[in-house]
Amino acid sequence: MAFDLSKCDFSRCRGECLVRCPYISYGEDDAKRAIQSLIRGEPHPILKECITCAACNDFCPQGADPWDLIALRQEETGVLGIPPDAKPSSDWLTKPAIILRRGKPGGPLISAGGIYEVVPQAEFLTGQMFEDATVIGGGAYACGFTETHLGRASRPLEYLRQFISNLAEAADEFGVDGIIFTHDACYDVATTLAMQQRVEVPFRPVHILEYIRDWLREHRDRVRPLNISIAVQGGCTTRYAPKGGDHEIWSDWLAEIFEIIGVESVEEKRTYTGIDRLCCGCGIFHTQTERALEIQRRNIQDAIDAGAEKLVFICPACIAVMRAACRKMELEPIYITQLVKLALGEELGPAGTAAFGYPVR
Ligand code: SF4
Ligand code: SF4
Repeated sequence: MAFDLSKCDFSRCRGECLVRCPYISYGEDDAKRAIQSLIRGEPHPILKECITCAACNDFCPQGADPWDLIALRQEETGVLGIPPDAKPSSDWLTKPAIILRRGKPGGPLISAGGIYEVVPQAEFLTGQMFEDATVIGGGAYACGFTETHLGRASRPLEYLRQFISNLAEAADEFGVDGIIFTHDACYDVATTLAMQQRVEVPFRPVHILEYIRDWLREHRDRVRPLNISIAVQGGCTTRYAPKGGDHEIWSDWLAEIFEIIGVESVEEKRTYTGIDRLCCGCGIFHTQTERALEIQRRNIQDAIDAGAEKLVFICPACIAVMRAACRKMELEPIYITQLVKLALGEELGPAGTAAFGYPVR
């Protein structure tokens, strides 16, 4: 999560970082000039045009992490024009730590971080898979990653030690060795960022997809295959996941979940997939709403054209921001836990597939 100037070598790239950005139209020379300006600390329009999706870190063939340079300059200049007390992220970070649901002693411990209300995690994390689980949330367990969309990209690093320490205390209190994270951001901060910063993590971080995959492996006999085609919304934070080979580790867990519950992914037929996947637009939803909606429509239409019957979400923020557009375009949005519950023959409860009616906060 830091730009590496030593790797940014204009003679060994074609400015892919910005040439491939799906939200702007830069040629190679424009791209290199923009990055050069940012390296020098000069103002550049890219700072305002960037929707904070983090994709350019994946596009750069040198591994220089240019998004982290853009984010740094966005924070230094305040160019995104977001006030210091911007809601709701600052709210999430100051919420008291709470127990959303108390499970059985020694059962799994799940952290919903600070954003357990954008989708009702207390309702989504129910059913057989979660019957023994305790779910905690609140600012003490928020990694601060949402702040990167608000021009305050330094927050995850600022909170890192406190975040890990709070979670370690929770692991002790509930007598568990591992903590399951419902959001990629918290998982990535507790793995990728902690490793980069050499911060010891005294518990095992577990991604929600890893937990679901492991549970399904042991309960295959309970599954009724769904036999449907689905597309996947991969959020920005998934790009920070540890890599397994040349791809992000979560994609292996998701592929196995799909195989067990009998759904076919249409991702191979999509234009906006893999590292070219589109952002949900949450970073600009309140400041450039029409631009965000245009991105969502492009994304959803692409999934429909590929033959998807549902659009599956892993990130609570993505589904909160995109569910209205999905409904309008008649592609059913569904949160991953709800999809698996369908395959287990369980009722989805009042939250349904995507918690329609819950506010986008
Ligand atoms: S960040 Fe990567 S792609 Fe962009 S100019 Fe530097 S080396 Fe080239
Ligand atoms: S973070 Fe996303 S929107 Fe911003 S420049 Fe990089 S690819 Fe483009």
